[in-house]
Amino acid sequence: MNIDLHTHTNVSDGKLSPGELLQRAEDRGIEILSITDHDTVAAYSSIKNSSLVLVPGVEFSTRWSNTGIHIVGLNIDLQSDAISEALAWQTTARHKRAEEIAAKLERKGVTDALEGAQKIAGNDNIGRPHFAEYLVQTGACVSIEEAFKKYLGSGKSGDIRKYWAAMPQIIDWIRAAGGIAVIAHPLTYRLTRMKLSLLLDDFITAGGQAIEVVSGKQLPDDTRNLARLCKQKKLKASCGSDFHQPDKSRSDLGQFPPLPHDCNPVWENF
Ligand code: AMP
Ligand code: MN
Ligand code: MN
Ligand code: MN
Repeated sequence: MNIDLHTHTNVSDGKLSPGELLQRAEDRGIEILSITDHDTVAAYSSIKNSSLVLVPGVEFSTRWSNTGIHIVGLNIDLQSDAISEALAWQTTARHKRAEEIAAKLERKGVTDALEGAQKIAGNDNIGRPHFAEYLVQTGACVSIEEAFKKYLGSGKSGDIRKYWAAMPQIIDWIRAAGGIAVIAHPLTYRLTRMKLSLLLDDFITAGGQAIEVVSGKQLPDDTRNLARLCKQKKLKASCGSDFHQPDKSRSDLGQFPPLPHDCNPVWENF
């Protein structure tokens, strides 16, 4: 089955509209899709009907032990009080963070970054990629990559995590909305094996149920290691492209290795 449970639209930092994303997913033969925009589910309100199975989802930003962690909530009730509460909290956090990022950039000589990023985002869901685009637009950086390396990436002044709700709270909201909490792209946090194991233990204690064993184009060794960890911790396994835009160097919708057969797929109960 062709399944992609981690994708973005232009409602957050993706480039396709929800309609365009759905069309691309259908064209590529995706049978089960989740749109998991950063801290928003607004994409779902503009979707009328589709021929594929659409699993309501979201990707929440949170923090654990001074590391920014992303948690995907799958099969959530979009109308639930818990999701409304979560989105309200995270939206406020995103606004405060954006103001603080802009103030920090101002001190480094980059002016009007908040307005600039807002214009690029086209809505009020401002993320670091929008700031990165602004830094390139104004000539402060030559590439998005450089913007993250110098200003926005891990450990840089624009990497502000303090406003996000804590991980147990995020998991509580997802579960109260009837959903399954999934640790997104576990290898991108660059944790040691020991720290990743500790993260999973805390995640499980808080009610987390799954990890992405496959995230985009990843090496066979990484898939094997994540599958082993997933089984060891008795978690369910998810998979997704983390698609943001058509881009040859990154994974397209549904374009990633299959989940190993001995994993317990997260979509079994959908
Ligand atoms: P935010 O949700 O505002 O914290 O932004 C995080 C998003 O920035 C991620 O979901 C990626 O889409 C993007 N991102 C993170 N690191 C990089 C990087 N080094 N280069 C390009 N995009 C990045
Ligand atoms: Mn993103
Ligand atoms: Mn992510
Ligand atoms: Mn993502």
